[in-house]
Amino acid sequence: MSNLIPVGVSNRHMHLTREVMDKLFGSGSELRVYRDLLQRGEFASEQSVEMIGPKGKFASVRILGPLRARMQVEISRTDAYHLGINPPVGKFAALPEGEVITLKGPAGSVTLTENIMISRRHIHINPEQAAEIGVKDQDTVFVAPAEQGDGDSAESRIMIMGNVLIRVKDTFLAQLHIDTDEANAAGLKSGDSVFVVQSSLGLYTEMPSKRLITENDVRQAIARKQRIRIKSETIVTPAARDLGKDKNVFAKG
Ligand SMILES: [Zn+2]
Repeated sequence: MSNLIPVGVSNRHMHLTREVMDKLFGSGSELRVYRDLLQRGEFASEQSVEMIGPKGKFASVRILGPLRARMQVEISRTDAYHLGINPPVGKFAALPEGEVITLKGPAGSVTLTENIMISRRHIHINPEQAAEIGVKDQDTVFVAPAEQGDGDSAESRIMIMGNVLIRVKDTFLAQLHIDTDEANAAGLKSGDSVFVVQSSLGLYTEMPSKRLITENDVRQAIARKQRIRIKSETIVTPAARDLGKDKNVFAKG
């Protein structure tokens, strides 16, 4: 398989408990599926609510299903500025003293002083894929966009993202989850791909699989201390082959 990981960009959203669902949409109300998400069983619902903060509000914030045991509102840093709150990154903690968010649905409102966070970027992956790219659950890694374009172009704003949490589960399909701030900063959109450049332990991984390996690819691999996997269908230019063999960057199979 390829060691490329597709990107999924998350807009502001929330997960509700049965209790909060009842308050916002009425007793016994159910989420209706608008669109299935890549991860099995997860879906974007048709329902949304108004989110009101001390300084600003959003008219329509989507609810993701299914219902959960714990309430969780996920927003970007830019959203937090707009609302006028300072939520924690990637963990459940109370908002700073005095900060409150109100959610308003068709049947009623709820106020929250906790369970609001800026998501921590993470990669969903199953055990087999994790083993192939050399990562394990709870590792943190660096990732880079697979399509780097012309590095000399003024339009290229390539960035490497660090502290990306690895989450391994049998049912997961490989996907990097980032929010809209991260996606915009890195020039990534849903469906783009990234690859793991380096683990937090300093172990470098392989370059993404490519059909044609040129001398430039080999030089990049050497600079990043990466290896290039050569498969039966891979074409390697003579100059790349000489340099790669000399520097021992090729992995077979
Ligand atoms: Zn996720």
